[in-house]
Amino acid sequence: MHSDLNRRTFVKLGTLAAVATTLAPGRSQAASTISLPPLPFAPNALEPHIDALTMEIHHGKHHAAYIAKLNEALAQHYDLAAERLIDTLTTLPSINDEALRNTFRNNGGGHWNHAFFWQTLTPAEQSGKPSDALNAAITRDFGSFDAFKTAFNEAAAKRFGSGWAWLIVKDGKLKITSTPNQDNPLMKGVVPDGDLGTPVLGLDVWEHAYYLKYQNRRPDYINAWWNVINWSSVNERFQKAS
Ligand code: MN
Repeated sequence: MHSDLNRRTFVKLGTLAAVATTLAPGRSQAASTISLPPLPFAPNALEPHIDALTMEIHHGKHHAAYIAKLNEALAQHYDLAAERLIDTLTTLPSINDEALRNTFRNNGGGHWNHAFFWQTLTPAEQSGKPSDALNAAITRDFGSFDAFKTAFNEAAAKRFGSGWAWLIVKDGKLKITSTPNQDNPLMKGVVPDGDLGTPVLGLDVWEHAYYLKYQNRRPDYINAWWNVINWSSVNERFQKAS
């Protein structure tokens, strides 16, 4: 069942955003909309590490809500196309309207981050392992895989409130960062320059990602998440970013 789902639903991050273009009544310009990318696995596929109900709500309600709000903004701002969401996210300070800028920051970021997150997850039996190249870079930049894991876990655990922990490639090196809310390391002019880079791995540490199963035990969720990392996806992202 999983492989069938994988084939049917896998969508490349770069293209998942854009689907239909529809003409709004009375307007000559086309408004593009974004649709919720399907999970690349069944909601229960990550059990027992991440439970089915959490996945259903996280994807079907939370991710969907970011997209709904993003589409509301896109419907009124025809110059901001869904197809170019990534361009918008990397140039947020150029949006003068503060409310619109915040909509793209929070909901555009929310969409991008979650679409990314689903693709870096997979059932434990398909998790795989870091490539030789990624392992070598981890050893070079963190000393050892265990040291990398400890540092990543700390970044994820220490993120106050809601946010994300990231492994990024910056100037050819691996680096661990974390961002609040739905910010991400692509948001130039929004996150500090030191946190900018190309994400290769990310972990959602919002309570909505774990509270049903883990309640206040965020570190237990973080530890469980290591079992369901889609290393082939991470290896590919690392290769492209390097
Ligand atoms: Mn989330």
